[in-house]
Amino acid sequence: MKLLKTLVVLLLLAGCTEGPGKAATAEDASLILTDARVYTLSWSEPGFDGTVMPDAPHDEHGWHPDAEAVVIKGGDILFVGGNDDAMAFKGDTSRIIDLKGATVLPGLVDSHTHLFGLGALLDQVNLVGVATEEEAVALIVEQAKSVPKGEWIVGRGWDEGAWANAYPDKALLSAAVPDHPVFMDSLHGFGGWANQAALDAAGITAETIVPVGGEMRLGDDGRPSGLFLNQGVELLRQAVPAPSRETLTKQILLGLNQMAADGYTAVHDAGLDSTAMSVLEELEAADKLPIRVYAMLSLRDEDLIRKWIEKGPDTDTDSMLTTGTVKAYYDAALGSRGARLLYDYSDQPGNRGISVDGYGFNEALAAKAMKAGFQIAIHAIGDAGNRDAIDILERVFKEAPSTAANRHRIEHAQVVSPEDISRFGKLGIIASMEPPHAMEDKTWAEQRLGPERILGAYAWRSLREAGAHLTFNSDNPGSDHSIFYGLHSAITRQDKNQQPEGGWYPEQRMTADEAVRGYTQWSAYASFREDKTGIIAAGRWADITVMDKDPFVLADESPGDILNGQIIMTIVNGKVVYER
Ligand SMILES: [Zn+2]
Repeated sequence: MKLLKTLVVLLLLAGCTEGPGKAATAEDASLILTDARVYTLSWSEPGFDGTVMPDAPHDEHGWHPDAEAVVIKGGDILFVGGNDDAMAFKGDTSRIIDLKGATVLPGLVDSHTHLFGLGALLDQVNLVGVATEEEAVALIVEQAKSVPKGEWIVGRGWDEGAWANAYPDKALLSAAVPDHPVFMDSLHGFGGWANQAALDAAGITAETIVPVGGEMRLGDDGRPSGLFLNQGVELLRQAVPAPSRETLTKQILLGLNQMAADGYTAVHDAGLDSTAMSVLEELEAADKLPIRVYAMLSLRDEDLIRKWIEKGPDTDTDSMLTTGTVKAYYDAALGSRGARLLYDYSDQPGNRGISVDGYGFNEALAAKAMKAGFQIAIHAIGDAGNRDAIDILERVFKEAPSTAANRHRIEHAQVVSPEDISRFGKLGIIASMEPPHAMEDKTWAEQRLGPERILGAYAWRSLREAGAHLTFNSDNPGSDHSIFYGLHSAITRQDKNQQPEGGWYPEQRMTADEAVRGYTQWSAYASFREDKTGIIAAGRWADITVMDKDPFVLADESPGDILNGQIIMTIVNGKVVYER
């Protein structure tokens, strides 16, 4: 049986392999992974309703791996199959790693990250998961001890959704930390919290003009309270001195290495400006990128976009840094009630989210980039935001039909009206979504949307059934990017405490096969790399993730245990970049 399976894998591979696989000889192997539970994902994709296809390694006992070993030569996979056959590729310099039954998956991709945000978070005050203002202030006081007086203390991560009924203000913070300007960005970047020293340093008073689409709260004394929402947060962001290039470089490497340690072989970065791009380009030129970066250029940086429109998207998709996408922002977040809705917020009559004007969406420039061959990725959360974003894409497709082939993406696609769900599939728009967001937002999302609209929210299954391509990601540092959390959210629709029982709107759950593909093969499609990666097969990039838990088996037997998984090894381009 095992031999037969190996033959099947080999036959399948023979069909799609050109080049390195066939001509290689035994001594060529640089790395051989043996004794593993390898899921190649080279079987047929499940049906839109999740049905397992007949060629999948699945039978009446459930899932089982479809290979035991992977042979790597340089940056490519040479062979996939059984242990004995793999050892035939052993040469004098081959490194053999006995994985002792660990699970091997195609290299994981987080297809919507913010590397600089993650790196900064690792370098700054981290308020992710902090429940109260008092706890947050205590952490800031701690940080202040090691920062010279007068220097800014920056942090982020307080949850503007969870804290919406009791927003923090400057009072406690100013009293506890009087000698440093303090700016704490929120989890999703739609709330900002500052002390008096920061307001003074930024020159913010009650007379300050707040950007369109933003809010500056005032205290009872008529002076700024220290709390800013949506575009208002820019007032604080712009006041913080820009980090030096050295700091940025340090922070991005912190972010990249953290992602490598967490099993990711590639990330798609959702919104890079000129400075960020130049740091990444410098790291690539010095061969210092530990994992692959698929860069999305921020539409807000017009100079950068115009420069790239001139030269066109990267064609060297093999390089560690690839640039062919423009990231645009259409609305804000649901938690802070800034997402654009077709009708009023259920918990705030009269409010339909931020207005489009002034939100930094330059439609003409976006269209120009699309016509120059760029993929566009539009941040859209609310049902009006999603409809408008699809309308914009459709308008450009009509003007320039060739642009329709560029696999445009809507980032988040969080609340979609039933009438718009099928448009994703019809127009070939990728829904780029975060399984953890559903779990984090479930406590308040229904209050914002009411019982009807919630059915089109975080609607992975509905979108798939309507023929949409999906790709899964974390949108870190706003959400925990742990793959185990991501898979568990996608498979169970339960949070880390395995609540609610049976899952939140469980009809939207993904199967294990779909969830894993959301972070591998489907991400490869979203970045035009489905011929290079996304499955484990000869001739593909040697991008591989090794973990101690088998999500396929656990999804059926005890899905909660997926949360306890750990990454054992991350291999990028044939190099072991992380080893536990
Ligand atoms: Zn994002």
